Parts: sequence; structure tokens; C-alpha cells
Amino acid sequence: MMNRRNAIKIAGLAAAAVAANSFAAETTAADPKTASTPYPLPDLPYPYEALEPHIDAETMRIHHDFHHQAYATNLRNAVAKHAELAGKPAVELVKHWEHMPEDIRLAVRNSGGGYVNHNLFWQFLSPKSAGEPKGDLAAAIDKQFSNFNGFKEQFSKAALGVFGSGWVWLTMDANKQLRLESTPNQDCPLTMGRVPLLGIDVWEHAYYLKYRNRRADYVKAFFNVIHWEFAAQSFETGVVK
Ligand code: MN
Repeated sequence: MMNRRNAIKIAGLAAAAVAANSFAAETTAADPKTASTPYPLPDLPYPYEALEPHIDAETMRIHHDFHHQAYATNLRNAVAKHAELAGKPAVELVKHWEHMPEDIRLAVRNSGGGYVNHNLFWQFLSPKSAGEPKGDLAAAIDKQFSNFNGFKEQFSKAALGVFGSGWVWLTMDANKQLRLESTPNQDCPLTMGRVPLLGIDVWEHAYYLKYRNRRADYVKAFFNVIHWEFAAQSFETGVVK
């Protein structure tokens, strides 16, 4: 299985390599995972069942293979209508969706946001969670939220408070100031100039098969599979991968 980080790197390189005049052909490529396809669906960095029993394999399969794939396909089809956008990394499009051509603005906001958010979401999770953050990120969380339990409480409360579909994020700004932020639909903190360190998808497709209407149980389970090393690395580098 392709390493997650390499998959994202390849996604960026592939997008950059696609010439405007080959764009139409690329959008009809049979295999969406080929490196020559812009905005490819990245492999999960672990097997579908790896997060059991906290997040079940069937949810992961549908979430990744169908929902994430749909965001990727819809973003690709939208961008294919504007040759001048060929090769732009997805994160750049999403950061600046308000300045996109009007006919694809909503598609970049929603499908581009969905594509980028899910690229991150799989990396936010790990079957080998450390349980709690360590190092500089842990210190910053303690400073901002009193202690880890304070963070957990506030994050969980925010996740339960999202009305309809959306996300709750732990973000930082250019000054490494941490924030808890909620976004509706597939809006992404990158658009607000933030670096997403961690985020929970609270769309029903993320939990309904296993948890039905019990979002609180899903949020509780989510804390067992957080990839704190990834969050710490993002906190350290400020780079969104
Ligand atoms: Mn989702």
C-alpha cells in the first residue's frame, strides 16, 4: 500500500505535471488512482479494519471509496473546465475558492473542501494512537485549554454542537495560536488562513452505520484513534500535507 505522505506528494506532482491540453483526456482516465490523474484518491494509510472497534471497516470503506472518491471526481471535473487552473494543488484552490471562476466556485468550495478535508482526515487517525499529545503540542494544549481533559471536553462539546453536517477542528494560526473551530459542510480552515492539526468529521456518513444517532459515542471513540504524532508534526512545521 502506498505510504500516505507519498500519495499526497504524488497528488501534487501529478497535478503539476498535467498540461492544459491533456486535461480532458485525463478526466476520463479509467483508473482514478494512477499518478497522472489530477486529485487522485489517496490510499488509506492503514487497512479498512485497522480502526476497529472504534471506527468500523464498512464505514471506512464507504467513506473512503465512495464519499472521498466523489469529492475527488467532482473537483477534477470542475477544474477541467478551466485550463488556466491545471496543475493547481487542491489546497491552493480551497484556500482561495472565493476567487475561483463563478461557474466552479461552489464545486471548489464543496468538493475541493471535501477532497482536502478527507485527505487530512485519514491522517488524523491511527490504529496506534498514543492516547494523548506529547511535547510542544501538549504544552500548547495545556496552555490553551487548561489541560488535556479540558481540550477533550471542549472539542467533544463542539463536535456534539454541530447542527447538520460539518467538522470540528483544532487549528493554529501563523503565531501558533491554537483554536477550536467548527466549519459547516466541507468548509476548510485553510480558507481562514489556519493550519488544521486535527479534525473530526461529524457528517452522518462518518458514523451512522455503527453509531446510528449516537454521535456522542462516535466522538468518544474518535479519541481512541487520534494520530497525535501527525498533529504534533503539523504543529511543528505548519505545513499541510
Ligand atoms: Mn466525510
